[in-house]
Amino acid sequence: MKIGVPKEIKNNENRVGLTPAGVFELVKNRHQVYIQATAGEGSGFFDADYIAAGAVILSSIEEVYAGSEMIVKVKEPIAQEYPLIREGQVVFTYFHFASSEDLTLAMLKSRAVCIAYETVEEADGSLPLLIPMSEVAGRMAIQQGAKYLEKPIKGRGVLLGGVPGVPPGKVLILGAGTVGIQAAKMAAGLGAHVTILDINMKRLRYVNDIMPSHVVTEFSGEYNIRKHIRTHDLIIGGVLIPGAKAPSLITRDMLGEMRPGTVLVDVAVDQGGCIETTRPTTHEDPTYIIDDVVHYCVANMPGAVPYTSTVALTNVTLPYVLQLAEKGWEKACAQRPALARGLNIVHGDLVYRGIAEAFGWNA
Ligand code: NAD
Repeated sequence: MKIGVPKEIKNNENRVGLTPAGVFELVKNRHQVYIQATAGEGSGFFDADYIAAGAVILSSIEEVYAGSEMIVKVKEPIAQEYPLIREGQVVFTYFHFASSEDLTLAMLKSRAVCIAYETVEEADGSLPLLIPMSEVAGRMAIQQGAKYLEKPIKGRGVLLGGVPGVPPGKVLILGAGTVGIQAAKMAAGLGAHVTILDINMKRLRYVNDIMPSHVVTEFSGEYNIRKHIRTHDLIIGGVLIPGAKAPSLITRDMLGEMRPGTVLVDVAVDQGGCIETTRPTTHEDPTYIIDDVVHYCVANMPGAVPYTSTVALTNVTLPYVLQLAEKGWEKACAQRPALARGLNIVHGDLVYRGIAEAFGWNA
């Protein structure tokens, strides 16, 4: 199959759809891979790396779309790409259709086959192509939180790991899912005292089994949250209720109970946030302060570490790309139900109920 990787043109997007290692595997399996010139540079992969792996470099985005049966990318296409996508072409990327009616209408009109990373779903309900980004964001949450605890950026002036003779900082994590566990691991590694809350006892049992004894689990509820926010230096929001807005576990009035310089990192900001005072921020201007409490609410945290994020993403997408390339989308989806659940739009038909519901269309 002819597979094309365009350069991402969405503002500040430095990830790329395939690494040279991915190209190598595809070429080894007798596929042809076209990479747009400089597509990988933001992630630290250069045209020469792709050529060495067997790719052909094309100079324009138009050539990549025109010559490829399947497009593999990272972010949803933006308006300038709509006319380049053609009937029957497979587009495999994050789409998040429910948040853009324009994009949905454009892809319906294109009659392409749109397979969305975010809805590829295994039988146990897990979302394998979202997990790596939560892993990145969970680990980053501690790195960022530790930085914003420093006094010059208005934090409490606490070193998370402490030093001999000074107790370590305290980290409160809401949610023991992918984000929460990765955050706990990083915080524990720095030597911080960690409290992690969830409403799912299975998750708490798992955390209790695998983490060192300075990571303490508790059941999540307003009483425990109010108790802990008074004494914890860094609070991470990592809760998710699938398909719904995140619950406001930290309300505005609770900020007054925190010590000045407490840092909140609301990773769940992309689902509305689990802190009432959360509003989305960017890497250019990541924080704001309300009632002396520092808020960090960047909606695309993995965007700051494009090398790690690209490799983590392509590690999980490549097996699907290989299968799609080998068998064609129809056979591949018939043989792998997880991939079939990724189908959102097929030849002008919307085939994913949640998207129609999001727009109030008759499903
Ligand atoms: P997950 O499903 O693995 O974990 C969520 C956890 O929240 C579950 O264990 C669930 O039981 C728990 N939970 C639900 N209600 C709770 C409550 N009231 N109190 C405590 N825990 C509760 O989800 P995840 O992959 O860890 O993702 C968490 C959030 O991070 C999602 O909103 C996701 O979209 C977001 N995210 C943001 C970024 C970013 O850049 N900002 C990147 C990746 C993921």
